[in-house]
Amino acid sequence: MKLLYLPPPVTEQWDWQLDAACRDADASLFFHPDNERGAAREERTASAKKVCARCPVREKCLQYAVESGERHGVWGGLTEEERTPLRRVRRILHRS
Ligand code: SF4
Repeated sequence: MKLLYLPPPVTEQWDWQLDAACRDADASLFFHPDNERGAAREERTASAKKVCARCPVREKCLQYAVESGERHGVWGGLTEEERTPLRRVRRILHRS
């Protein structure tokens, strides 16, 4: 007999966001506008990372971003480029 499980309540998956340091921050700090490059991008990213550095749910945030394959923005203190190796490792681990 196959057991069926209901998905967990959504709030349990997202509760961590209630404690996010970026909760009241401008979202544009975490997501780059089109064609942003060079110093402007570095400065915006550094500012976002400063918020993440004091965030009590940073680990959960990064875990969510890697597991869900978030391709844009700063999550858990890492940019999309910095998360790419983590996504690859996760894919390899889940192949077997
Ligand atoms: S780690 Fe950064 S992006 Fe994630 S919830 Fe905290 S402040 Fe927001």
